[in-house]
Amino acid sequence: EVQTPVHARPPARLGQVGLKAKSVILVGSGKGGVGKSTVATSLALTLRRLGATVGLMDADVYGPSVPHLLGLSGRPAISEDKKIEPIRLGPNGESGVPPETVGAMPVMSMGFLLEPDQAVIWRGPMLHGSIQQFLRDTSWGELDYLVIDMPPGTGDIALTLSQAIPITGAVVVCTPQEVALLDAVKAISMFRKVNIPIAGMVENMSGFTCPDCGKTYDIFGRGGARDKAEQLSVPYLGGLPIDITLREAGDAGKLAEVIATDHRARAPFDQVARSL
Ligand code: ADP
Repeated sequence: EVQTPVHARPPARLGQVGLKAKSVILVGSGKGGVGKSTVATSLALTLRRLGATVGLMDADVYGPSVPHLLGLSGRPAISEDKKIEPIRLGPNGESGVPPETVGAMPVMSMGFLLEPDQAVIWRGPMLHGSIQQFLRDTSWGELDYLVIDMPPGTGDIALTLSQAIPITGAVVVCTPQEVALLDAVKAISMFRKVNIPIAGMVENMSGFTCPDCGKTYDIFGRGGARDKAEQLSVPYLGGLPIDITLREAGDAGKLAEVIATDHRARAPFDQVARSL
């Protein structure tokens, strides 16, 4: 089946929300710490680098890490027509990024609304309200892609999203370890239960190649996600090696710079992004 490339499709006004996006991609995982936010953020940056107009929504309301990965802070302003102005990344906000490759990328996260050490202790309905508000009341503009970083595991926010907008697909991130794979299988079954199509699986921390000796070590194993994807009849979108550059970039809030300039670090994301 030949798909119309996203850029060529007309923007659809989605569901009951004001959002206009041609494609809405969720990035989820069975458990935390597998690199979901790193993958979601890098995919958004990569799609943008490939020429698409992209928004990034951090729906990981309990542990919002997107602002940190991008080195973004600030409080979203409320405009006269009561819209939330997302925080925008670059082209002016990021150093080392060739301006021709980027338009400003709107980013919305609970992290912009909380104090740094404040925990989210909201009850369900408020949480769902906030997610709907992120979609409906944020000035996203017209997007080719809205990438949504999901909270790990639970299905309630997936359900809220699926009821609010048509979702193009969910990317499920896992590591090659058996326990992580079992959690990823649960995540896939959760998405399926709420009728969200599975875009495919990404294996993160898939081997480590020593920069000094060139030898590859499969620290958490390798290939498990590919096998699991085949068993479950979902696409396997690719693997990302353990990469110190990515970890350092994330910690330092410089993921955008690395994706823009580091050929080696960004190559695996190119492959995944091109399949979305
Ligand atoms: P999650 O969203 O699943 O909790 P994060 O994206 O926050 O996971 O990643 C957890 C930690 O692992 C972060 O410190 C991140 O920099 C690091 N990390 C993620 N993917 C990789 C990778 N491929 N190589 C090295 N470090 C990684």
